[in-house]
Amino acid sequence: MTPQQAVTFRDAMSRFPSGVVIATARDEDGRPWGFTASSFSSVSLEPPLVLVCLSKAADCHRVFSSATRFAISVLSAADETAAATFARRGADKFAVSNFEVDEHGSPLLRSAIATLSCRKFDTYDCGDHSVLIGQVTGARLGPDDHPMIYSARKFGRFLPNAPAHLTAHEQVRYCFRCGSSLALSVPPGDTLGRPVCHKCGHIHYINPTVIVGCIAEASDGRILLCRRRIAPRRGYWTFPSGFLERGESSEEGARRETLEEAGADVGIERLLCVIDVPQISEVHLIYRGLLTGNAASVTTESSEVALVAEPDIPWENLAFTSIGESLRRYLDDRAHGRRLVHRIDLRSAPERDNQDSDAPAPAAP
Ligand code: ZN
Repeated sequence: MTPQQAVTFRDAMSRFPSGVVIATARDEDGRPWGFTASSFSSVSLEPPLVLVCLSKAADCHRVFSSATRFAISVLSAADETAAATFARRGADKFAVSNFEVDEHGSPLLRSAIATLSCRKFDTYDCGDHSVLIGQVTGARLGPDDHPMIYSARKFGRFLPNAPAHLTAHEQVRYCFRCGSSLALSVPPGDTLGRPVCHKCGHIHYINPTVIVGCIAEASDGRILLCRRRIAPRRGYWTFPSGFLERGESSEEGARRETLEEAGADVGIERLLCVIDVPQISEVHLIYRGLLTGNAASVTTESSEVALVAEPDIPWENLAFTSIGESLRRYLDDRAHGRRLVHRIDLRSAPERDNQDSDAPAPAAP
């Protein structure tokens, strides 16, 4: 493996989510030792066996290698302090959290959602880790809390069937008001998980974004298109569109975007498409407009601005699925003399999934 492949291997494994446990044991003098592990697994039901992997570089490796017993505490999402403490070297780990002992003296975290007492069954030497196999001699259930999840090198919580919009919350890590870190939880009286500040209690509601756009037509029927100078999808073609700003109507936003991206004044004629993209929490409102003057040739947002006749539309190099879907309906209506408002659901289409890449625009469904 090249060094780069070794890095990719680590990154690939970081995308495999796992639960989090604290493994504990005592040394020959009776002192407790422990470490945080995500590489824990059930191995066998009869006999009941589990495994946990321990780095040979860990300061407790010697203790766990020679111990005849160890215990496993399965962490709830609330046990982040314990998880972080037992992931470090040398700390006075057991002073930080509340432990009890099983009948063999192995420490168990009181707040764990489940604990297992194990007799050492076997130890395997595997590269830079040892695999400790334990035969379970006692299992207990703790509070029925959300389990802690370790994914992408972060501790978090498992939300069953979390709606897609929650992924947007991953982008908000710190409180707008006090700067403290946020945790996803369901506020009283609410039904969805929200990023909530544990220090000041501020609930960060993050709602879908509105995109406004305009298909602007010149008097000769050509359509105003812009080549994106900015990410995402730099170098690909679009009609003017962008985020609706606070305090403006969607029509005003579509006009402003046309001015910003193409340097062109447009008279908005009517609404053409309402596009739902729930997987990225966006709603697009696309208007049909008529150019009232000349467009710029370039702008700060567009490396090229052009009036394009229907046969010359760069279908293979459009920036987003929504752009092609809107243009197709617009041209079809125009050919048939229709004035429809289209509702499009792009739920199944991977909108913007190749941000700023060289890949061609995602195919229309
Ligand atoms: Zn706060």
